[in-house]
Amino acid sequence: METKKTYERPLIKPLNTGLMNKFGTRTDYATFPDIDGAPVADLLEKYGSPLFVYSENTIRKNFVDAKRTFETRYPKVQFAWSYKTCYLNAVCNIYHSEGSWGEVVSRFEYDKAIQNGVKPANIIFNGPHKSDDDLRMASKNGSLIHIDHFDELYKLHEIASELNIKPRVAIRVNMDVGIYPKWDRFGFNYENGQAWEAINKIIANGKLELVGLHTHIGTYIMVTSAYALAAKKMADLALSIKRQFNKTITYIDMGGGFASKNTLKGAYYPGTDTIPDISEYAEAITSTLLNAGFPHDELPYLYMETGRALIDNAGFMAGTVIANKRLSDGRSATIVDFGVNTLFTSFWYDHRVTHVEELGVHTEDTVLYGPLCMNIDVIRENIALPALRPGNHLVVHYVGAYNVTQSMQFISFRPAVVLIDTNGKPHLIRQQENLDIVQSHEVLPDYLNNK
Ligand SMILES: *Cc1c(COP(=O)(O)O)cnc(C)c1O
Repeated sequence: METKKTYERPLIKPLNTGLMNKFGTRTDYATFPDIDGAPVADLLEKYGSPLFVYSENTIRKNFVDAKRTFETRYPKVQFAWSYKTCYLNAVCNIYHSEGSWGEVVSRFEYDKAIQNGVKPANIIFNGPHKSDDDLRMASKNGSLIHIDHFDELYKLHEIASELNIKPRVAIRVNMDVGIYPKWDRFGFNYENGQAWEAINKIIANGKLELVGLHTHIGTYIMVTSAYALAAKKMADLALSIKRQFNKTITYIDMGGGFASKNTLKGAYYPGTDTIPDISEYAEAITSTLLNAGFPHDELPYLYMETGRALIDNAGFMAGTVIANKRLSDGRSATIVDFGVNTLFTSFWYDHRVTHVEELGVHTEDTVLYGPLCMNIDVIRENIALPALRPGNHLVVHYVGAYNVTQSMQFISFRPAVVLIDTNGKPHLIRQQENLDIVQSHEVLPDYLNNK
């Protein structure tokens, strides 16, 4: 027999993020049935599971917002898309269509940028390994070569004499900006005078055209003051060059490294609540440059190579529940069809995971395992999810940066990648691997062929 419950006055209470309250910690109960209007279940049906999905809308919005944020604070800004963050041609071409140049760290990426129609003069060539042939080609093409070390500088002097051309170069500068461990393995150090020595050598020698100064202080940098400090040191170098050699530097390239809204493992608050907005990074950099003391007609261009922060929230991994299990200690576990070989960033982020279908309201702490036959294949060590059934679909958020480029073929095939265009229409932008693709570069010596 049901007895009538006693009346309780309704009560509205604020839920504080991160703090434990009578409802437990904050979790994501909401279903996430579609990406930009394309139903996730239909996408998985059509293109296979698991599946990477990119939102063109979000990519464009992120870029336009970032560009406006910088351009409303500083008069001369140029973005260059960091290829290694996601070098799918469809994605690169969206950035290029918005006016972004290409920033590459290898010959393979350089060639990709050329094939995507980027003008050679608008390619920034970074990285510690450029072969002699790479340097010759980039010099002839008039690309911006960012010198990483003295051996590369000497090699470029040689190439400039040999080809009788003046390569356009910048030096990469590393420095102490209060972020430890310091990223001092790339470029020339500021504090110990190495950067100044490189500048001196370039100008004294006269064979290279020193057009810029470059730094990239690290990645997933959560403190905007680090950028202010870096911009100050770069401006000091540029002003010293002007004072000492009466030479005006065309640009200061502040690299990338802005954090995306992902939540780092062990973080108390979710990244969406703690990561600085792009405007805070922009403010730190642009106000420092504007106040550095450049005459207004000699203000250097500001180049930005922002990667992660422009793409992470535009990429999703959609997949399917394979099975549920109970672990020996009683914990609930769920096996899904996407593993750490394709979601590399699971090693350091607690990725947001939502469900596609309408499920129950009661959640249980669950371990989310990938499908690989490997103990480290854990997508989330602990996540509160409603009871899932085999065949249910999940979406992992903020996976647009580095996962596609760093994913490896291991045990299972790498998934297809789909782009949802601005009208909500899906386009296949990379096909799923199959046995032929995976084996296409294998060679079986005749004597081992048992057929
Ligand atoms: C990787 C890289 C970037 C992009 O870094 P994000 O952290 O993705 O913004 C920019 N410049 C250089 C030189 C890089 O190596």
